[in-house]
Amino acid sequence: LSFCTNLPKIELHAHLNGSLRDQTIKELADMRKLDPTLCHVVEKGERTLSEVFQLFGVIHQVTTDHAILTRITQEVIEDFAADNVQYLELRTTPKDRLEHGMTKRSYTEAVLQGVQKAKAGGCPTMVRLLLSIDRREDAAAAMATVMLAAELQAEGVVGVDLSGNPTIGSWDTWAPALGHARKLGLRLTLHAAEVYAPAETKQILDFRPDRLGHMCCLDIDLEQQFFSSCIPVELCLSSNIITESVASVSDHHFLPFFRAGHPVILCTDDSGVFHTSLSKEYAIAAHAFGLSQRDLWQLSEQAIEHAFLSADDKHELRQRWAEQRSGSG
Ligand code: 5GP
Repeated sequence: LSFCTNLPKIELHAHLNGSLRDQTIKELADMRKLDPTLCHVVEKGERTLSEVFQLFGVIHQVTTDHAILTRITQEVIEDFAADNVQYLELRTTPKDRLEHGMTKRSYTEAVLQGVQKAKAGGCPTMVRLLLSIDRREDAAAAMATVMLAAELQAEGVVGVDLSGNPTIGSWDTWAPALGHARKLGLRLTLHAAEVYAPAETKQILDFRPDRLGHMCCLDIDLEQQFFSSCIPVELCLSSNIITESVASVSDHHFLPFFRAGHPVILCTDDSGVFHTSLSKEYAIAAHAFGLSQRDLWQLSEQAIEHAFLSADDKHELRQRWAEQRSGSG
């Protein structure tokens, strides 16, 4: 693990509210006097996919305040920085909660303030934001998120994600907003095939997003289409195993994708909810798939190419890698 901790890393798939420390969730739940019967799901170590979405419900009940959003964003960035994550592409779903005086815009601005605070506090991690569309949202809400992302590009919003409970919703609802996002110059990464949904997975592959997340449940035809697409995929080992999208680490599709030379990026998904870190994910992969130190350097460095960053920012990151690699002997 110490090799993986020291390795500079790129995190491209981290949900803000999934990356909270347990301690922070408990503290906020106490502060909000949250119904203790809801808290059992916070105490649980291993959680199924449906319990994970229950837990998000609890977390969302305690992160309804702008100051709290700013605080958790700063904390999450600092945690990734402590794990030697040099670039963090953090994603979150802007929420309209009018009862709390919150709009999608004010939510996102509070998160961006957290990014600024981390930077002002000397945090060396480069951070950009993706705005997520939740699969529960309708076409108008999806379009509102896209328009907001476009307006906040100069503040560090680089793209749009589609996430949320994979058993809910239909592709036709969000496709127009996602198509519009592309026209506005936003980059797109879409969760796909977390559950077996071949028709939707095909629609997503035909749409050709810039990156994909998960891709756990593919049949032979979809796998063929996916491999020939060369679309980079964010893979989250602990998340897929804990939520039972994949039976065990040795059954994980990382290895066939990696062996096929398909671009893969190791990510955490929800480091708080799944009690993991990016170093742990690299260590799990190294152990399970027999990856060498050279493979791990390559994996982390190649992730730079798939970041939604400008050529100059990527150049800066490559320089950081070169310096740290020569420093590591
Ligand atoms: P937030 O967007 O509120 O910052 O982060 C939590 C949200 O991210 C969840 O409510 C859910 O919409 C999304 N999310 C987190 N983890 C997963 C996952 O493993 N799969 C999917 N499909 N969505 C997720």
